[in-house]
Amino acid sequence: MKVKNIKAYGTVAADADLKQLDINRREVTAKDVEIDILYCGVCHSDLHFARNDWGMTQYPVVPGHEIVGKVLNVGKDVKQYKEGDLVAVGCLVDSCRSCNNCKNDLEQYCPEWVGTYGGYDKHLETNTHGGYSETIVVDEAFVLSIPENLDLAGIAPVLCAGITTWSPLRHWNVGKDSKVAVVGLGGLGHMAIKLADALGAHVTLFSRSTNKTDDAKALGADEVIISTDESQMEGAMGRFDLIIDTVPYEHDLNPYVGTLNTNGTLVVVGYLGPLDPMLVTVPLIMGRKSVAGSLIGGIAETQELLDFCGKHNITSDIEVINMQDINIAYERMLKSDVKYRFVIDMKSLKN
Ligand code: NAP
Ligand code: ZN
Ligand code: ZN
Repeated sequence: MKVKNIKAYGTVAADADLKQLDINRREVTAKDVEIDILYCGVCHSDLHFARNDWGMTQYPVVPGHEIVGKVLNVGKDVKQYKEGDLVAVGCLVDSCRSCNNCKNDLEQYCPEWVGTYGGYDKHLETNTHGGYSETIVVDEAFVLSIPENLDLAGIAPVLCAGITTWSPLRHWNVGKDSKVAVVGLGGLGHMAIKLADALGAHVTLFSRSTNKTDDAKALGADEVIISTDESQMEGAMGRFDLIIDTVPYEHDLNPYVGTLNTNGTLVVVGYLGPLDPMLVTVPLIMGRKSVAGSLIGGIAETQELLDFCGKHNITSDIEVINMQDINIAYERMLKSDVKYRFVIDMKSLKN
């Protein structure tokens, strides 16, 4: 298979900084779209993966799955896109396309789903490499259209932070009468607030300190509860239909379960791993409450979200950085020092 050598940014070890690397991209096959990457969002998952927090990373890693770009070239059988189109790619670049999940637009739960980075690239027989790079080649079935009215850099985080919170909002039928809470105001959390607000829900933020209260309200939250204040947590008992928990690290879920209404669901999208302290089942049983998980969203659902964002003029609140500043950005993300998503201007890698 013919390949092109391009510039990317990635890491070769869990404890190494990200640096410039050369990687290969395949030349387009019949169904492929070659994309010149304009912007790429910086997700906390990029950091987890680069540093092997989940114990599954194979190096080298080129992170990035919030990709916005312009079509450079298409394969001969590509129907939906042409040279010059503005397009996006999220967390998925392939799946088996024949299992029940794939048939039901749930490619993210396909046992053979291929992540945009760290997945298995069947064309090059190596790991897939993500959006911290000059270009990417993706099958048109996994390429998305972006609304024309939105800021290109601001759209990028919709591809992961947006869809990861949109999917549970839609699955649990959030609408005008819903009471939704979001745990953690970061990349995912700020998109969750905007989207739940746009769906008409009453929105509450749980945050660790009062620092983000004004921002949360400006983003669309009706109220803020400080999760480290026991009396505030006590006052929130039995209130929420859906809680979206975006916290990336181990934490106690039990106080949040207490704030669910009868039939309410706490959906964990942030932390991946065992719980300590363990979950107490009594409130689950006494109130028919659920604790659930959710992974990104399917391709059709991501397109639905992009269209919704176009209609409601929703983009992410971002700080644009150069590729060379990614290591500083990771350290700042760990300190929650970003309002509320870093987006890389990919020009900085190309120059
Ligand atoms: P982020 O921007 O760093 O935001 C995380 C927020 O969690 C922080 O702003 C902070 O909000 C809160 N937090 C509470 N305890 C924390 C702690 N010990 N350290 C740092 N933050 C803490 O991260 P993100 O990009 O939104 O991603 C959140 C998590 O979702 C990550 O673990 C990521 O891997 C995961 N993720 C999952 C999916 C999925 O499909 N399920 C998709 C994308 C990302 P306050 O200051 O308001 O408390
Ligand atoms: Zn992500
Ligand atoms: Zn499948």
